[in-house]
Amino acid sequence: MKEACGVFGIYAPGADIAHLAFDGIFALQHRGQESAGMAVAEDGQIMVVKDNGLVASVFDDRTLQSLTGDAAIAHSRYSTAGSGDWRSAQPVFRSVGDVGFALAHNGNLTNTEDLASQLGALPGIGLTDSDTMAELIAQSYAAHLAKGGGLREALLETLPKIEGAFSLSLLDATHIYGVRDPHGFRPLCLGRLGDGEEPDGWVLASETPALDVIGATFVREIEPGELIRIGPDGVSSERYVPSGETEPHLCIFEFVYFARPDSRLMGREVHGTRRRMGELLAAQAPIEADMIMGVPDSGVPAAEGFALASGIPYGQGLIKNRYIGRTFISPDQKARDKGVRRKLNPLKENIAGKRLVVVDDSIVRGTTTRALVRMLRDAGAAEVHLRISSPPFMWPCFYGIDTPSRTELLAANHTIPEIVEYLNCDSLAYISLENLKSAIGVAEGFCDACLSGNYPTAVPVESPRARARAEEFDLAASPTGV
Ligand code: AMP
Repeated sequence: MKEACGVFGIYAPGADIAHLAFDGIFALQHRGQESAGMAVAEDGQIMVVKDNGLVASVFDDRTLQSLTGDAAIAHSRYSTAGSGDWRSAQPVFRSVGDVGFALAHNGNLTNTEDLASQLGALPGIGLTDSDTMAELIAQSYAAHLAKGGGLREALLETLPKIEGAFSLSLLDATHIYGVRDPHGFRPLCLGRLGDGEEPDGWVLASETPALDVIGATFVREIEPGELIRIGPDGVSSERYVPSGETEPHLCIFEFVYFARPDSRLMGREVHGTRRRMGELLAAQAPIEADMIMGVPDSGVPAAEGFALASGIPYGQGLIKNRYIGRTFISPDQKARDKGVRRKLNPLKENIAGKRLVVVDDSIVRGTTTRALVRMLRDAGAAEVHLRISSPPFMWPCFYGIDTPSRTELLAANHTIPEIVEYLNCDSLAYISLENLKSAIGVAEGFCDACLSGNYPTAVPVESPRARARAEEFDLAASPTGV
C-alpha cells in the first residue's frame, strides 16, 4: 500500500473542533482523494468517522455537529492501488483496556514486514503500514498503562523501531500528538489558533494552507525525529531520536508537485520556487516561440517564470475542469487515458498557428503528456515545445510516491530523442537537478532518489513488492546498494 496523504490535528477546547478539522483536512484534499476520516475526543471517549470518498462527501453538516470535543485528528488518503475498502480509511483506532487512541499517517514504511513479524503476524498477512504501527503502539501502550504511563511513553518506545517515511497525527482521550520520521520525508507543521483570545488552540497539519484556512498562524515545522504533545498542560516537545542522529531528507517532489503552491515549506512559499524553476528552465533550455503556457494546475507557476525570463508572452492554452481530481489517481491505464480528455480542453482560437512552449512539472508515464500534445496539435498549434520543471523521473520511490513499474516509467527506459518521438513534440527539456535546487534556494536536505537514484537509506528490499521493484531497476548496482 502506497500512501502520500494529508494529516491534520487540532487541540482547542471550546472551539467547534469538528468543523475546524473539516476545513483543515479539506484544504489538504489534494494530498489524497480516496478516503477521508476524523477522530474526535470528548469526555474520555474517541469517536471515529471515516469512509471512502472526498472529504466533502464523507462529512455533512449533521455529522460534524454531532462531533463535539476538545481535540481531533483528520486524514485524507491517497492510494493508487484503488483498494476500495473503507476499512483502509484513516484514522485507525485501537482500544487499549478502557482507553484508546487514533492514528493518521502520511508516508510509507520500509520495515513493515519486520515490524509485522515482531507482532507475531504470519508472513504475507499484508498488514497496512498504519495498522502495523497502530498495533505496535497499542501493545506498548498496554504495557505502559500497567506502569502508570500512557501513549507518550508508548510512542517514545515504539517510534525508534519504525523505518521509512511517517508524518503522523495521533489522538488519545486528552491530547493530540505530532510525529515526523528522522528523515523528515513528509512535511508536518505546527500552528497556533486564537492570537491569545478564546478559544485558543494548537494545530498540526501536513501543509500550511490548512492553518491559513482556519485562521491559525504558522509556528514552525515539526523537526525530523521529534514528538510533539499538545493538551491541557500545554505543548511539549521531545526527541525520540537525538537531533545529531537525524538526517533531514524532505521529498523534493513536495516542491515540484505535491504541495499546494500557497504552502510554505523550508521557510519559502512553494509558488515562488516553482516560478523560479521556470525562470531557470528558460535560461537552461531557451527556444523561439509565440506563447508560453502551463499545464493546469501544476505547470502554471513554472510557465509564469518561463515567460518572465524569456520575454515571450504568457497565455492560456488549456482549460481544466475544476471538478475533477488528479488523473494519476485512476487505477488503470485505460481509465487514465480517458481521464486526460475529461480533465483538459484546448482553447483553439488562442493556440491556432502558434509556436507553443508547454510547461509542466513532471512526466511520469507520459500518458497525460502524450494526449495533451495531440490535443494541442489537433487544435492547430504550429509547434509544441515541452519544458519540464523537474529532472527525468527515473527511479522508484520507496517512501510514499506510488511509482509505476519500470516498463511504464517513461524516462527509466528511453533517451530524450525517443521520448520526443513518443510524445510527438518538437522539442523537450527537463530542468537539471542543480537548477531545481537553486530554484528552491536550498542546496541540501532533500530526498531526490526518484530523480538521482541516490537513496538516503539502504534501498529497502524487505517486502516482496519492494524487492521486485529494486530488482527491476537493478538497484543492487546503485551507490547506496541493496
Ligand atoms: P504523465 O504524462 O502521464 O506522466 O503525467 C504527467 C502529469 O502527472 C504531470 O502533469 C504531473 O503533474 C502529474 N504527476 C506527477 N507525479 C504525480 C503523482 N505522484 N501523482 C499524481 N500525479 C502526478
